[in-house]
Amino acid sequence: MNDSQIKDQDLEKLSAEEEAFRSSIGTMDKKGKRQWVFPKKPSGRFTVYRTWVAYFLLAFLVIAPFVKLPNGNPLFLFNIPKGEFIIFGFPFFTSDFFLLAIGMITTIVFIVLFTVVYGRIFCGWICPQTIFMEHVFRRIEYWIEGDRPKQMKLAKQDWDEEKIRKRLLKWTVFGLISFFIANIFFAYIIGSDALIDLIKEGPATHMSTFVGLIIFTGLFYFIFAWFREQVCTLVCPYGRLQGVLIDKKTIIVAYDFKRGESTAGRSKFRKGEDRKAVGKGDCIDCKQCVVVCPTGIDIRNGTQLECVNCTACIDACDEVMEKVNLPKGLIRYASEENIETGQKFKFTGRMLAYTLVLLGMILAINAFLFSRNDVEVKFLHVPGRNYKIEGQNISNVYQYTLYNKTNGDLNVRFELESHENGSIRILDGPPQIVLTKGNVQQGVVEVKIPMDDLSSYKEPVIMRALDEDGKVLDEYLTSFSAPY
Ligand code: SF4
Ligand code: SF4
Repeated sequence: MNDSQIKDQDLEKLSAEEEAFRSSIGTMDKKGKRQWVFPKKPSGRFTVYRTWVAYFLLAFLVIAPFVKLPNGNPLFLFNIPKGEFIIFGFPFFTSDFFLLAIGMITTIVFIVLFTVVYGRIFCGWICPQTIFMEHVFRRIEYWIEGDRPKQMKLAKQDWDEEKIRKRLLKWTVFGLISFFIANIFFAYIIGSDALIDLIKEGPATHMSTFVGLIIFTGLFYFIFAWFREQVCTLVCPYGRLQGVLIDKKTIIVAYDFKRGESTAGRSKFRKGEDRKAVGKGDCIDCKQCVVVCPTGIDIRNGTQLECVNCTACIDACDEVMEKVNLPKGLIRYASEENIETGQKFKFTGRMLAYTLVLLGMILAINAFLFSRNDVEVKFLHVPGRNYKIEGQNISNVYQYTLYNKTNGDLNVRFELESHENGSIRILDGPPQIVLTKGNVQQGVVEVKIPMDDLSSYKEPVIMRALDEDGKVLDEYLTSFSAPY
């Protein structure tokens, strides 16, 4: 084999190594065995901002289920077994399913549009998985086991006194925090009052809830102590959708390969060297962006589905650039197009258009929420029954449906609003309906109107529901059949 053949072989091998990331994921070896990630503790501008956002969201998550509004409703409740949901203090019941469905569809469309423009900002800044993993569990790990080199050393060393002590301490703290998170999670499901009762009265009287609590504690422990970044890389459907949601104009955490590689590629830093003159890029191949990555990838390989846009590599690279006296931003928030054309990030017309659509969607769903009545009434003609002539009066029979979406019981009566001389009477019950919270009631009413007051064979009529103090709860416009 001559020299040039050996060189070709070396180049092929090198290229295969460089391209290996395309057919593998950073957290598994070739045999599919888990490769534990030991990310370096991040620090820098974005880490500080993200930490504040995370602390704010954590505080909100913990406090929200215990906050009670003046109407007695909690801020949030997702009681799936009872079909009772409270969102920002607004109660929703199974009768509001269409509103929940609209809300869910809006959320999905929102996420899609948001991702097209702003990439995975959600994953890096707001996602509960990232927040708990990076700002709670990983911080405890740094505190107990130290930074990356110490963690790697501990993982390799035998089970001596130090390793047993540190691991036991870590697992205990992880377990306690998982139990705490499970409690908060349950406060959202069963309500904070029920959770406080459970704590006061002890598990023996609420055994099934307690078993559920332990199962969720185990689940959280499993996710944050062992499964970790694999939630994002293997399980999360949102991460998997990135390939179809992002394009060249999407803002992502990106490596400026034009600047980093230049014409002669990246290479180690040499003091006093004029890198530009020899065509070397600004990347000094220090791999700080790689060791800091919580999903174990190399951002210099381009956009990858494992990247959760956590910004740790931006901070790591900025710190390096500062040390070697080169401009910051070799890794930054930018679109692929920005990098290719060398343009700086700017708020484009497309971003403005998508942002306006997103704001419009938020406004629309809020308008739905605020315009929704706590009590709803509907009157529909009983099928197969038309009008009836009774002397000088005409009568129609309707089936009523009454929804109580408040968190209290109501005494409801009906009134015919549109025809002063007419009347409305409940046929299958007392004149006042006692409607318990969150319930729906149906029944039959008879509406009677003097013939002289009618001017059409389909007379518009308005009926309304009032509470015991005479306050109008809701009204309904329908038609009244007459012989004209
Ligand atoms: S941290 Fe910056 S300079 Fe160092 S390898 Fe990564 S991109 Fe290159
Ligand atoms: S590549 Fe950078 S932004 Fe993406 S997950 Fe890794 S450290 Fe975070």
